[in-house]
Amino acid sequence: MATQQLLRHLPGVDTLLLEMETLKEWTDAPHSLKARIIREVLEEKRRDVLENRIQDAKDLAAAILIPRITEKLERAVSPNLQRTINATGVVVHTNLGRSLLAGEALERIMAVASHYSNLEFSLESGKRGLRYTAVSSLLTEITGAEAAMVVNNNAAAVLLCLDTLTKGREAIVSRGELVEIGGSFRIPDVMAKSGAILKEVGTTNRTHLKDYEEAIGENTGLLLKVHTSNFQIMGFTASVSMDQLATLGRKHGIPVMDDLGSGTFVDFSPFGLSKEPTVQESLKAGADIVTFSGDKLLGGPQAGIIVGRKEWIEKIRSNPLTRALRIDKLTLAALEGTLRLYRDPEKAMASIPTLRMLTMDESLCTEKATTLHKKLMALGLQGFDMEVLPSTARAGGGSLPTQDLPSRCISIKSRDVSAASMERQFRNFQPPIIGRVESDAFLMDVRTLQQGEEDIIVTAFSTLFCPEPLLPCIKKEKP
Ligand SMILES: *Cc1c(COP(=O)(O)O)cnc(C)c1O
Repeated sequence: MATQQLLRHLPGVDTLLLEMETLKEWTDAPHSLKARIIREVLEEKRRDVLENRIQDAKDLAAAILIPRITEKLERAVSPNLQRTINATGVVVHTNLGRSLLAGEALERIMAVASHYSNLEFSLESGKRGLRYTAVSSLLTEITGAEAAMVVNNNAAAVLLCLDTLTKGREAIVSRGELVEIGGSFRIPDVMAKSGAILKEVGTTNRTHLKDYEEAIGENTGLLLKVHTSNFQIMGFTASVSMDQLATLGRKHGIPVMDDLGSGTFVDFSPFGLSKEPTVQESLKAGADIVTFSGDKLLGGPQAGIIVGRKEWIEKIRSNPLTRALRIDKLTLAALEGTLRLYRDPEKAMASIPTLRMLTMDESLCTEKATTLHKKLMALGLQGFDMEVLPSTARAGGGSLPTQDLPSRCISIKSRDVSAASMERQFRNFQPPIIGRVESDAFLMDVRTLQQGEEDIIVTAFSTLFCPEPLLPCIKKEKP
């Protein structure tokens, strides 16, 4: 059929709107939204005709267009930011939202978000108060620091500290610690933005105390130590401990800052994980300022925590930049809820999801995987090969980079569906299930699955691949 003639078969907007009126589930959707999506679909079809992808008038019938319209409507009315199921085995997965909050933190958010609060109001004096009060005493109690404050995230904390302590002056850093964290956060760039002058010392693999000492001059404002977070240098290496650096700083009257990155209050080594310097240890070793994230190993909301000497924290607080980087009240509420749990370390380990997943025993992973495997097998699907395999989970978030967390995954292979297609279909499920593809199998690690998510995976699997006969259902995938 000629193009122009074919185009005449496209239904009008009004016709399609009337058709939509007959669909009960969409009667409440805003009229303007329906009209917009109908126009989009009509435009799509017009292009298909003009570019010869559609050559039959039957393909332009309202009955064909309506499912496409409702599919687009479905997507338009569902939230853009949505829950997903993390079957990657990466615990602090930056792309999937880093840490999950403990129930106690969620309760604090609800209480503060739906009511007025004493955010910046002192209930004692009836006058204006500081927003940091909610967490600063908890932070000093847990870490032993003299003073504490919080900002929006750790990148902001580092920027703010450098801007306050070192603007126009030199900060001495080891070449082995000039890290890029990802998402374009590079220590040298942040330093440049803060107005601090970077003075590199040592080499990539070895830096000695005398390197720092020789670099100290009239314009030195800070000795900076940065946790290498997402990598480790092995072999012939040397670095200077916080202890030594702090002694050097005191001798010359220069403050010493430790950007711990992940930052943890808990020593993970009793759980068989590698030793990370804790915030308490860094302070005890003599750091004047310690900065770390709220949502990495700490397992709280996104936040940048600054603890250390009172004189510096006060200077940081009165820096005008603080206002631009300030922490939001919902975050503050969640952070307080999380920090309160740390008063009882056992309770913290049990109720903070990040800590629970990091320290989960391998046998529990096996148990979770076996249960899930049984449920999947019980569906009795033909053509799928499923097994429980050993897998290696990760801490993620630039934490414990060389630490393998022994775990288990479900591996699914199929003659008829490629692993890549399975990955895509699980990812497009509601809620999306994110796994990975490895040598022709789709893998789901159980360490990062939350309560009840095993059942969602079973539902997803049966919805995506079950209806018999098997083959037509495999075709369900959208191009
Ligand atoms: C992650 C990290 C940061 C940035 O922290 P955010 O909370 O992501 O802003 C800064 N420094 C180090 C060493 C880090 O590991």
